[in-house]
Amino acid sequence: MLRRLSSTSIKNIPKNSFARRGIITKSIRLKCAQVHAASPHFASTPRWASTAAALKISESTETIPRSTLPSSRIDDRKVVIGFENGEWARFHHMWLRDHCRCPQCFHSVTKQRLVNTFEIPRDIKPMKVESKPEGLEVIWPSSQPHVSIYPWSWLRHNSYDPQLPNQQSLSSEKILWGSKICETPPTVAYEDVTASDDRGLYKWISNVDKFGFSFVSGVPATTEATEELVERIGFIRKTQYGEFWDFTADLSRGDTAYTNIALGAHTDNTYFTDPCGLQVFHLLSHTEGSGGETLLVDGFYAASLLKELHPEAYEVLSKVGVPAHAAGEMGNIYTPTPQGAYPVLSHANGELTQVRWNNDDRSVMNRLPPADLEAWYDAIRLWNKFLTSSDSEYWVQLSPGTVVVVDNHRVLHGRSAFTGKRRMCGAYVGVDEYRSKLNVLKEKFEPDQVSLDTTPYGSSDGRSVWNPLL
Ligand SMILES: [Zn+2]
Repeated sequence: MLRRLSSTSIKNIPKNSFARRGIITKSIRLKCAQVHAASPHFASTPRWASTAAALKISESTETIPRSTLPSSRIDDRKVVIGFENGEWARFHHMWLRDHCRCPQCFHSVTKQRLVNTFEIPRDIKPMKVESKPEGLEVIWPSSQPHVSIYPWSWLRHNSYDPQLPNQQSLSSEKILWGSKICETPPTVAYEDVTASDDRGLYKWISNVDKFGFSFVSGVPATTEATEELVERIGFIRKTQYGEFWDFTADLSRGDTAYTNIALGAHTDNTYFTDPCGLQVFHLLSHTEGSGGETLLVDGFYAASLLKELHPEAYEVLSKVGVPAHAAGEMGNIYTPTPQGAYPVLSHANGELTQVRWNNDDRSVMNRLPPADLEAWYDAIRLWNKFLTSSDSEYWVQLSPGTVVVVDNHRVLHGRSAFTGKRRMCGAYVGVDEYRSKLNVLKEKFEPDQVSLDTTPYGSSDGRSVWNPLL
């Protein structure tokens, strides 16, 4: 879900998607509440009920009129579910047996599969299925005796035959921005980010998820406070530049970042197989000189303009691998694995997921068919035009006390040349650490509907075995 902010509408930053989800949330909760109200056993059965207990629960809910439950029947190779709203979905018998989440089949604490998939007969078929208030009950044949229960909301969420519309998306909305973001840049106060309840931390990381960057204001201008702040998100990713950086323009590392020259908008680590997920910067001091403004550009915004106005160039940037290297030190020569080259724009399920762009770190373009070479140069010329337009560039003079964290898979950064002594500190955080923390905080502050619906009988240690991420 991408939403582009036109340069003039930044003041009307749409409310996040919470409100939109609220509509869905409300109706499902209502259904859930009805079930719970009629089922006092749920309240006193906080853990996954054993098969026997689960059966007992369903006996006690006979008061619920049948018509309010989805229908279920066994087909040749699939179980067919007819949901209350008229939608239907089919689930293969093998799939159902393999995804049983009872304590024998799925470890409720480690959240790992226990069932031996390969001992399930290829032609397994349920003996009986029954629609129960808490979900679809499947009784497996006596040769493989077992009773499974699959909550309705979980089945609907995971439906694949067909995929049902309006499934609650687990990826959040992105707000694409141009230079006018300078009027209201996403910012969180240090005291909130460091508060023990994690709410400010969630706000900070959500900002990064939505805008691709966020400031933290009021941070003590020390390396210690900055490092602690980074570690609120996750552990620091160590690279050839070290772990936590504290650097000046002394060329202590073989990279132009360690000079005072201007750097055009780029992402870091184009020469890595997995470029770092986040970068954190903090200008600790700048004396005896001037310049060194920070540049941020929303790569997703620039890409959306390119796609709209020059789709053929967008296509080229999505397909052509661009080799890259980091070789400024005798101790290492980094190039990405395995193919040595990734495209500028990467996609998953048709959605833009990653921008990789650093023209300075580009290696020799020697794999392009000759007929495509000029089209490729034309494409990057257009790309560069959008990245460097005044509509895209957000320039900001950082000052001690303001930390900026940037999503390196989306937002490009750079700086203007400077004079004098400038001391910066910062760090990288891996993309998986950042996404994991975001998932954890979402689970805490904005739990998904499937987990909410199944809380009374699906959780152990606070995390539901029906969590849609599992
Ligand atoms: Zn089982």
